[in-house]
Amino acid sequence: MNIIGKVTVLPQLPGKIARLSELAYNLYWSWTPHAQNLYAELDAEIWERFQHNPVRTLLEVSQERLNAAAADPAYLARYQQVMADFDAYMGKKDTWASKNAPGMEPVAYFSMEYAFHESLPIYSGGLGVLAGDHCKSASDLGLPFTAVGMLFHQGYFRQLFDKDGWQNEAYDELDLTTLPIRVALNDAGEEIRLKVWIGNHDVQVRVWKLQVGRIQVLLLDTNVPENNEDDRKLTARLYGGNQELRVQQYVLLGVAGIRALRALNIPASVYHMNEGHAALMSLERMREYVAQGLDFKTALETAASSTLFTTHTPVAAGNDAFSYDLMDRYIGRWPGVLNTTRDELYGLARHDQNWDGQVVPAFSMTVFALHMSRAANGVSELHGEVSRKMWNFLYEGANPEEVHIGHVTNGAHNLTFTSQPMRDLLSTVLPQDWTERLEDEQMWQAVENLSDQQLSDVQREMKRQMITFVRGRMKEQMLRNGASAADVAHTDQLLDENALTIGFARRFATYKRATLLFRDKARLSRIVNNPERPVQFVFAGKAHPADNPGKAFIQEIFRVSQEPEFRGKIVILENYDMNVARHLVQGVDIWLNNPRRPLEASGTSGMKASFNGSPNFSVLDGWWREGYDGDNGWSIGEEREYADLNVQDDADAFSLYTTLETQIVPRYYGGGTGPASWAHTVRDSIETVSPRFSMQRQVIDYVQQYYLPIAQRAATVSKDRSAKAKQIAEWKTWVRQQWPYTQITAQANLPTTARPGQTVTVTANVNPAGINPAELNVEAVLMRGEHQTRVPLRHQQGNVYSAEVPLNDSGLYSVGVRMVPHIEGLSNPLETGLIKWA
Ligand SMILES: *Cc1c(COP(=O)(O)O)cnc(C)c1O
Repeated sequence: MNIIGKVTVLPQLPGKIARLSELAYNLYWSWTPHAQNLYAELDAEIWERFQHNPVRTLLEVSQERLNAAAADPAYLARYQQVMADFDAYMGKKDTWASKNAPGMEPVAYFSMEYAFHESLPIYSGGLGVLAGDHCKSASDLGLPFTAVGMLFHQGYFRQLFDKDGWQNEAYDELDLTTLPIRVALNDAGEEIRLKVWIGNHDVQVRVWKLQVGRIQVLLLDTNVPENNEDDRKLTARLYGGNQELRVQQYVLLGVAGIRALRALNIPASVYHMNEGHAALMSLERMREYVAQGLDFKTALETAASSTLFTTHTPVAAGNDAFSYDLMDRYIGRWPGVLNTTRDELYGLARHDQNWDGQVVPAFSMTVFALHMSRAANGVSELHGEVSRKMWNFLYEGANPEEVHIGHVTNGAHNLTFTSQPMRDLLSTVLPQDWTERLEDEQMWQAVENLSDQQLSDVQREMKRQMITFVRGRMKEQMLRNGASAADVAHTDQLLDENALTIGFARRFATYKRATLLFRDKARLSRIVNNPERPVQFVFAGKAHPADNPGKAFIQEIFRVSQEPEFRGKIVILENYDMNVARHLVQGVDIWLNNPRRPLEASGTSGMKASFNGSPNFSVLDGWWREGYDGDNGWSIGEEREYADLNVQDDADAFSLYTTLETQIVPRYYGGGTGPASWAHTVRDSIETVSPRFSMQRQVIDYVQQYYLPIAQRAATVSKDRSAKAKQIAEWKTWVRQQWPYTQITAQANLPTTARPGQTVTVTANVNPAGINPAELNVEAVLMRGEHQTRVPLRHQQGNVYSAEVPLNDSGLYSVGVRMVPHIEGLSNPLETGLIKWA
């Protein structure tokens, strides 16, 4: 047919269930299975076909079904209960924030991707899930909070395996009218258009509003008729295209993101950059201050004082760095707009790269983010440590532990990932308001009151659902790939509900080593094919479209899954998304993760499994290094680094097999009760992981460690037209000018050996050049192993500083003396990045 136009005939919601539409436009339903069921019950086939999308379901379902539901007393009772819960949630006054952070300043959170639900595919993996979960908990806690992101109208991609197990990508154009979003309007009732200069012209940006419980997410979209074809594609795909497109998208997220907040009059006092993708927000924020009459450096201090940067990537390739030429094309105008020079602006992002054997300056998003914020953090304790080492070079002369990058260990949104049967079971022992106190460790001790039988009943039910899901998905895939009737029929035999089932699903980045399990296939076969105690595996995950090694991993798993000895016992599922993730973390017995330590910044999928009573079995990297307590799951390998990756892989694979054979399998099949039983491990994993790795705990940490103190300092710095910012900026400029002319020499009367507690006299002679001597921290630095202690030297007369420095403990000390410029009101002692050693 030749289509000349389209029209949707909207079904009319009967009055008794009229609010189904309102609820569909609030992602509250995404963590509330009872709410989802209201739509699923209208038409299960439509619900499945359209990725569990309530808006779409209401558009597609027949008028007759709606009328029937409205006349069904049982349905109405469930509807009323869900609406009552929803109203209570939305109207709640005594939230965590109202009690623990009254008057808290509003936060604007920027992220390139968000994973809220499978029906809104604007995410690629863990980073998106983390951002989505952060929003959900910000809502749960009642924070003043707005998120900003991008509406990718072709999403990331839909993954399809061909008959040889090679990953192909499909890009479906989303129909925006079927998504739970509403276009943002101005006061005159017209669609908002923001203008952003990209390349050599203005691009028009539309804004969509997404309601997530009590908070709002603004999504940017360039796919509007006023733009040319190329510009319309700027928001087509997440992480698609080349470097050129990346930079354009970063300009959009940062610059248009800030403009969207302003256009909608949404207040923000703290700005949170989730990963370096969001760093260009600082351009626009500085522009605003410059437009108000501030000089560039004062604008910089003001904008940075209210900014927090969270880094997620200990892998070099994950930290974008672009050539200056490329940046010139897209932000070439900004030095002029900001009343500064290209050198000065790009200098804030400079990270020299070795490209094709040549060292060239490059614009690093991470370096820019670090310089444009006054607080930064990694996403687990170990990742904080790794990040401090990684960015140590920016603070020349500093010890890694001094680098001002802290950590907040990631969490996951419990309710999004915990199955309804498990929630129902937990409700029998936890207090009535447990979903509002998820971070409460003591509360979770009540999990010990769940019986072995109760747990295993719920887990068995979830496992059956997962197996049914896997079989259905595999059948579809087989049919699509033209498999034989026998192969299609065989999907009904995949997986055995009585076998120990291990799940592994995540992005197929190579450092995550998805194929480590196959390092010794003969040994694996003995584990899998043990007649009394069989073990089976379910894999899923996407490789980035340009990552051929990652795709080769997928293919390797696919091929192993076809080998006679592993057939039906090792399965790899297509198109890993939030839906597949939920089925797996709820249905498997154990969750496996074996990244190459220390490259997993945090990892979160193992938390989701633990919430459902599937203990984690993982390398001691990221969150598990903190979460593992010896009883709540199992570890793989040792807490150490390796120079030779092959040796590391061998050692970790060996440890994986051995722990499976000698601990996990015997425990799973051993029966019995008490501390050595399977149920004991299950209870421990729920009890310990649920509170400590709840997203609620994570967001509370952000509020207390960062959002509140940042807001306070930012207010001081920006007060009276940024008087303090101006003072700091001018002082830094002066100190940087004087620094090359300063000098320091030092002496210490060190005996060859000393007793613990003995002191030594350390003296420094300083030439402060034009710097006020009171603004120099001169300090003795004692290094003992990796650990550093610093003792301030006191200003004596003239240019002399000295102190009696105690050697408190036994051991070999190295002693040094250094000076660091400092004034009252800096965000941290090394803020200038200037350190001079004697
Ligand atoms: C939780 C989750 C991830 C993150 O997995 P890791 O354990 O961090 O590797 C990725 N993708 C989806 C769909 C998830 O739900």
